[in-house]
Amino acid sequence: MVKNIDWGNLGFGYMKTDYRYVSCYKNGKWDEGQLVKDENVVINESACVLQYAQTCFEGLKAYKTKENKVVCFRPDMNAKRMIESAKRLEMPTFSEERFLDAIKKVVNANFDWVPPYGSGASLYIRPYMFGSDAIMGVKPATEYQFRIFVSPVGPYFKGGVKPITLMIPDFDRAAPRGTGHVKAGLNYAMSLHAIVNAHNHGYNENLYLDSRTRTKIEETGSANIIFVTKNNEVVTPKSDTILPSITRRSLMYVAEHYLGLKATEREIYLEELQDYKECALCGTAAVLSPVGKISDHGKDILFPSGMEKPGEITQKLYDTLRSIQMCEIDAPEGWIFEVN
Ligand SMILES: *Cc1c(COP(=O)(O)O)cnc(C)c1O
Repeated sequence: MVKNIDWGNLGFGYMKTDYRYVSCYKNGKWDEGQLVKDENVVINESACVLQYAQTCFEGLKAYKTKENKVVCFRPDMNAKRMIESAKRLEMPTFSEERFLDAIKKVVNANFDWVPPYGSGASLYIRPYMFGSDAIMGVKPATEYQFRIFVSPVGPYFKGGVKPITLMIPDFDRAAPRGTGHVKAGLNYAMSLHAIVNAHNHGYNENLYLDSRTRTKIEETGSANIIFVTKNNEVVTPKSDTILPSITRRSLMYVAEHYLGLKATEREIYLEELQDYKECALCGTAAVLSPVGKISDHGKDILFPSGMEKPGEITQKLYDTLRSIQMCEIDAPEGWIFEVN
């Protein structure tokens, strides 16, 4: 029985569902894992995650297709990225095979929570891992939990896809040779002050610069960025300190192979932003959100696409990727993972 939820009016928030997946790591190995009903996690007060933020996470979505199949978009990429995050944080890795198996188990167990096709909503999937046993000195935990919970979510931005505004903050997101390229909770903890500051100034998000020279564009707190040139070339920043977004990598492929556009990853300087005609943020939560304005300490960069609707290329990229994700048009090999 599908749950009695007003799917069309869901926000982007947590909703408790029936089951979550848990696997525990102890004495050098992961247990076989299980589905549990209790949404609470009980851990020691001196757990490494609580004292020293030893935790990483992932985010992906499951969709119902027209044929009532449930599919995920490139979950193997999330599995691989989580392995990289775990290594950087001295955590044990959870294999790609087991990651995919756990996704299947937890989504199927919560099948009735997957929003229907055409509702605009989807099932958000949150895998995460943390050091759970008591430690005191600064060192990695010896016990860990890998968990996945799911929650139905509506579109990230309500009321259609209206362009958003960004500001260039005085804060940095990622140090050279730091942790900007992995999905660690710590990157988000230190972004909270900056995001509250941006909101207080009337902006939706911060657009971070590279912290070494503060001249190059990196990304926002939770999404990568793309630009469109006046010749309809899609460009995105190349940097070792941004999080390798699966949405961004997919969009660059779509631009080139579905839309026949040139797609380039290269260094992008703050100085050149006024030369672009479109700008958009990309990530699992929002897919693609158009940016109308970027404010750099009182100097406003206004994109010709304006503040009313997405630019033409942004809209095409969005429509094409959404259609691939919903299985309405053919996907590149391996992009669609069937769950049921
Ligand atoms: C998760 C995340 C993204 C988006 O990545 P997707 O794989 O597209 O969801 C972008 N930037 C940061 C900092 C992130 O944490």
